[in-house]
Amino acid sequence: MKLAADRVKACLRPSAFDDVNTVIANPDDEIYAYAIARLLVSCMDDASMLDKLARYEAERSAYFLKAEDPEVIAYIATAVGIDITAPDMSVKQYVSLVSRMREPPRWRLVNRDVLHGRVHCPPDDYAAILRERIRQVIRSQLPLVVPPGPVAVRLRTYAEEVSHAYREQIMEQYGEVSEGCFPPCIRAIIAAVTDGTNIPHTARFTLTAFLHTIGLDETAIVEVFARAPDFDIQRTMYQVEHISGSGGTEYTPPGCATLKTYGLCVNPDTFCKNTAHPLSYYKYRKKISGKKV
Ligand code: SF4
Repeated sequence: MKLAADRVKACLRPSAFDDVNTVIANPDDEIYAYAIARLLVSCMDDASMLDKLARYEAERSAYFLKAEDPEVIAYIATAVGIDITAPDMSVKQYVSLVSRMREPPRWRLVNRDVLHGRVHCPPDDYAAILRERIRQVIRSQLPLVVPPGPVAVRLRTYAEEVSHAYREQIMEQYGEVSEGCFPPCIRAIIAAVTDGTNIPHTARFTLTAFLHTIGLDETAIVEVFARAPDFDIQRTMYQVEHISGSGGTEYTPPGCATLKTYGLCVNPDTFCKNTAHPLSYYKYRKKISGKKV
C-alpha cells in the first residue's frame, strides 16, 4: 500500500511529468503498486487526481518503451488501437488522439499533411502519439468501483494521506491565496464578473484555470463567480468542474502571449514587463510581498 501511495504522490510533484521515476526495483511490486494506485485515486473523489495518475503512468510507459525493440512497441501499440507502422491515419483517429496533447501548434491539422482524409504521420511522431493513447486508455478506466468494506476503509486512510500531501504541495508552490497579488488581467476579469459584465468564454476559462491552479477548490471558485448579479449556479458549476478536471483534462491558464491575442491583457503594470505567464506574475508578487511561495 505504501508503494502505491508513494506512486500517487510522485504524480503530484510539479515536475512529475518531466521527471518520472525511472527505477524498477522489483517488477512484481511495481505491478501491485500500479493496481493499488488506481484504487487509491478512485477513492479520492477528485477528477484531477485521476488525470494526473493517467498522465504520469503514460509518461513512465513512454520512458520504458524507448528501450524496447520495435516489434514490442508495435505490439503494444496495436493492443491500444494504433498501427505505428502505417504512414498515416484517418483524420478522425488523429484528431481524437492529438486534441489534448501538449505543443498544440505541432499537432494542429493545419500544420499537417492531409490527403484523402488521412493525416501523414512520420515515424518520429509515433512515440508521442502512443504515449497519449496510453494516457487515454488508462484514464478511460478510471475511476474504479471500490466496494465498501475493510479494504475500502484502508484505502481511504491512504487516500487521505495523499490528498493531504497534494494540498501541501499546492501550498508550497503558491502559498495561501492572496488576491492582492493577482495579475492585472485576472483582477480585471474578477472586476468584470463583479460588475455583472457578460465576459467571454476565454475570460471565464482563464479565471477558472488560474484560480484552480493556485489551489482554490471548486466551491471557492464558484464563490468568485457568485459575485455576479446574474450568477447561474448550475452553469457555473458545470464549467468549473470541467475546467478543474472532471472531463479528464486539468487545464492551466493561457500564457501572456495568448491572453494578448484574446484581448484579456489589460492594464499591464511594471511587474508584467518580465512576465510571460500570469502564474509567474502571481508567484513573483507573492515572493516579494514577503509571503510564502
Ligand atoms: S502581461 Fe501577462 S500577467 Fe500582465 S496583465 Fe498581461 S496577461 Fe496578465
